[in-house]
Amino acid sequence: MKLVAVIGGGPAGAFAGERLAAAGLRTIILDEKLAWEKPCGGGLTYKAYQQYPFLIENDTPKRMIHDTLLSAPKAGSARLKLRQPLLIYSRFDLNNMLLKRAEKAGAQVEKARVLTADRRGRSWRLQTRNGAIEADYCVVATGARNPLRNVGTEWTPADTMTALGYYIPARQEHIDIQFLPHLEGYIWIFPRCGHLSVGICGRGYSARDLRARLDSYLDEKGISRADAEFYAHVLPSLSPPHWRSNRIAGEGWMAVGDAGGLVDPITGEGLYYAMRSADMAARVVLDDAHPSATKAAAYRTLLHRDFGSDLEFGAMLAKRLFLGRFLFSSVPARMVQFIRRSPRFHDLVEDIFSGSQDYASLRSRLLRNLNGTLHEVVVNFFLHRFMPAEKHV
Ligand SMILES: Cc1cc2nc3c(=O)[nH]c(=O)nc-3n(C[C@H](O)[C@H](O)[C@H](O)COP(=O)(O)OP(=O)(O)OC[C@H]3O[C@@H](n4cnc5c(N)ncnc54)[C@H](O)[C@@H]3O)c2cc1C
Repeated sequence: MKLVAVIGGGPAGAFAGERLAAAGLRTIILDEKLAWEKPCGGGLTYKAYQQYPFLIENDTPKRMIHDTLLSAPKAGSARLKLRQPLLIYSRFDLNNMLLKRAEKAGAQVEKARVLTADRRGRSWRLQTRNGAIEADYCVVATGARNPLRNVGTEWTPADTMTALGYYIPARQEHIDIQFLPHLEGYIWIFPRCGHLSVGICGRGYSARDLRARLDSYLDEKGISRADAEFYAHVLPSLSPPHWRSNRIAGEGWMAVGDAGGLVDPITGEGLYYAMRSADMAARVVLDDAHPSATKAAAYRTLLHRDFGSDLEFGAMLAKRLFLGRFLFSSVPARMVQFIRRSPRFHDLVEDIFSGSQDYASLRSRLLRNLNGTLHEVVVNFFLHRFMPAEKHV
């Protein structure tokens, strides 16, 4: 293979480019903006930096947050202590660090918008405003707003969520997560260096509705939007059947990250999956055991085994988790109450947060722990009811 073109230089494209170039392949990364403040919370879970330790071991500015406050209507709040912090980057800083690493590994990084990608025999012709590039293989990393029609996920309205919010010049030491009535989604406040990334994501509501809900939440909390910068973007959230039919790869190309719809349908975590899919795509491109004609199938299998089947399972759970009911109350409300009252339930939710609890084994862990959890909930309920607060803190 003479040249691999990576279209898009976000986390997925930059990391794929780094891996390919480090292995000695001639690699060009094309991004229309290069490093930029892509609308995002910027949160990286323990799962991500455990897999790729350079994400925590670096000098790039970031916050490391251990404290999360989860709140739900009619249930108040519960504090979630994270043994492993959530890292929170500004996306400019994160993208910049990843592009620099790709460059250092030998990738050519160029500011250019790819207008069209056409297959010509066994190669590609990429048209940019600066001219055309001939490449042997393409890694498509153009994000959720992929403008190239012939490669990457084919979106339907059921496969995305709206996500919008503000960068607010303020400081706080903990993360806030707020569930709302009848919303398959949530509000977050992520503290970053120098500002907060505050946002809401949800399915089935217009951007205007979501913004009104976020604004009234901020008003209630007394958080001013006076000097805030507004942002909005699309968050991939593939419907359960689409995980199987997803157009993730084809003859001479593979899609990585958001361009392939690879986002956790419950938490909205996409950064880890962007990098993980990039890692796997690079492995398949580099592996001579897979001739060009079988690379797409090899990549699909690898993704499915690594995290695809789990995210597909997550997509089936999402509605039940946000909109379902348990013991005559909403699931989010019960979740908040149980975190408050049951140490073992607290640990389970903490593991979901850190990414170390997969969805496939969640149900069996819940069932295994149900008796113990309910016992702790009942004991704690009576403790709180009949004993003065200072005796059981
Ligand atoms: C509001 C919001 C909050 C989020 N919060 C979190 C979070 O806290 N944690 C988390 O893990 N995930 C979060 N996500 C998801 C996360 O932002 C994405 O999953 C992640 O950015 C995907 O990376 P990517 O490289 O695939 O795509 P992107 O980051 O979107 O990068 C795509 C790149 O391609 C470039 N590009 C596009 N088209 C072209 C073209 N034709 N030619 C050249 N370049 C092109 C763009 O300029 C861009 O740089 C959030 C998403 C949203 C919308």
